[in-house]
Amino acid sequence: MDIAKETTALLERLGVDKAVLAGGSMPSYSPLTGGKVADLAPISAQDAAKAIEAADAAFRQWRNVPAPRRGELVRLLGEELRASKDDLGRLVSIEAGKIPSEGLGEVQEMIDICDFAVGLSRQLYGLTIASERPGHRMMETWHPLGVVGVISAFNFPVAVWSWNAALALVCGNSVVWKPSEKTPLTALACQAIFARAASRFGDAPEGLLQVLIGDRAIGEVLVDHPKVPLVSATGSTRMGAEVGPRLAKRFARAILELGGNNAGIVCPSADLDMALRAIAFGAMGTAGQRCTTLRRLFVHESVYDDLVPRLKKAYESVSVGNPLETGALVGPLIDAAAYKGMQSALEKAKAAGGEITGGERVETAQDAAFYVRPALVEMPKQVSPVTEETFAPILYVMKYSDFDAAIADHNAVGAGLSSSIFTLDMREAERFLSADGSDCGIANVNIGTSGAEIGGAFGGEKETGGGRESGSDAWKGYMRRATNTVNYSTVLPLAQGVSFDI
Ligand code: NAD
Repeated sequence: MDIAKETTALLERLGVDKAVLAGGSMPSYSPLTGGKVADLAPISAQDAAKAIEAADAAFRQWRNVPAPRRGELVRLLGEELRASKDDLGRLVSIEAGKIPSEGLGEVQEMIDICDFAVGLSRQLYGLTIASERPGHRMMETWHPLGVVGVISAFNFPVAVWSWNAALALVCGNSVVWKPSEKTPLTALACQAIFARAASRFGDAPEGLLQVLIGDRAIGEVLVDHPKVPLVSATGSTRMGAEVGPRLAKRFARAILELGGNNAGIVCPSADLDMALRAIAFGAMGTAGQRCTTLRRLFVHESVYDDLVPRLKKAYESVSVGNPLETGALVGPLIDAAAYKGMQSALEKAKAAGGEITGGERVETAQDAAFYVRPALVEMPKQVSPVTEETFAPILYVMKYSDFDAAIADHNAVGAGLSSSIFTLDMREAERFLSADGSDCGIANVNIGTSGAEIGGAFGGEKETGGGRESGSDAWKGYMRRATNTVNYSTVLPLAQGVSFDI
């Protein structure tokens, strides 16, 4: 397969001008082969600032468009995504290394959030509140916020943008997006798809969506710009630790969606067939490169010898390779650095007493592509590197005997994104979901840690950053709230009985 040729053809079909794909100083690679697929020109800091100014001007018009009309633009975006699903899904596979069903699934998620946002455009509800004063009425109104900055990670190159953009647009905001420098091509494709929706819409202001191609320095322009009241940043906890304080310094809002170190607990009553499938997808799917990937597993001693050998078999037999050519279930790591990170974690785990199944490189004809067999590591206890996120397919398995201790270990890491329990015991399930159960933003029963639906709010606690995107009432993060008190009486009583007679 000539991946560079196919990439160019896909991008052209998606509406990206071929001229932007060559001649620049920022090479773009496909992890499927490690081969170069484009040379893009990164934006300068000055031009990035100009793009933010243009988005601010667009916001000032867009905020006055009625929300249901704004929803029409997002409805058209959903239509354009449906029409481009096959091509964009394949481009996701080429650029991020995902298997075809996951590449297409990512685009489906974009379509789903557009549908959700269209409904939301007629439901940006505020409360009415009982006033303590006669002849007064209190209410909350929700107003557009301004330019929403989106910084995204390589592993969900387009879905994360759409979670933010679909909500931000119906909420009356403009969007400036800094995609990962590892996946800029899918961002260019989204920009072209959005442009088609905007042109069909007719009178959308120019500059409503800006895409900034560049590395973290361009991300920093977005983070520091005074005309960006909210930045939604997805990536590593290291990135969040830099971005969070910079935003706080200028009192901007942050939605931080950072690293995960997700765990599952398999209890004595678990349906082991179901658990096995959920664990296999959660830990090996997307080659371990989901923020919600299952990384730690606590298995009760009574089922350990039943489950773990079956899991090992799945690890030994799962197909690894170029998913577009071979139909393999486990695709490549994103790059050499990811491979190095994985090997270093495995060495540390071994030194700490871990017994490793898998983890070795799977050689292909291309030296620059990094395929690995997923690793299952039986650990005597939870010590480093189990306590840190390594963005690769490593599952640490530990035996437990006491449920309280398992929950304590489950929560004893920095990250707090996703979690799951496998049990048919209602007491265990409810305890896991209760105030002294899982401390994560996502807690599941009898399904794995990964593969969330857009209807729920997505995000996690602690070092995962505390942000929420996508469904439920996450839209409130993209608007400013005003509390209004209206006096329709003929007198002016003050609250709390205060008197001030002049
Ligand atoms: P990364 O932190 O290296 O980069 C993410 C983005 O942040 C990129 O666009 C990058 O250019 C930008 N960036 C980095 N430093 C910056 C800075 N100082 N200022 C402004 N921008 C900066 O992450 P990655 O390797 O692309 O993605 C993997 C990580 O993302 C994992 O830790 C994973 O768990 C996490 N992730 C989290 C979620 C979530 O929703 N919680 C979703 C996907 C990925």
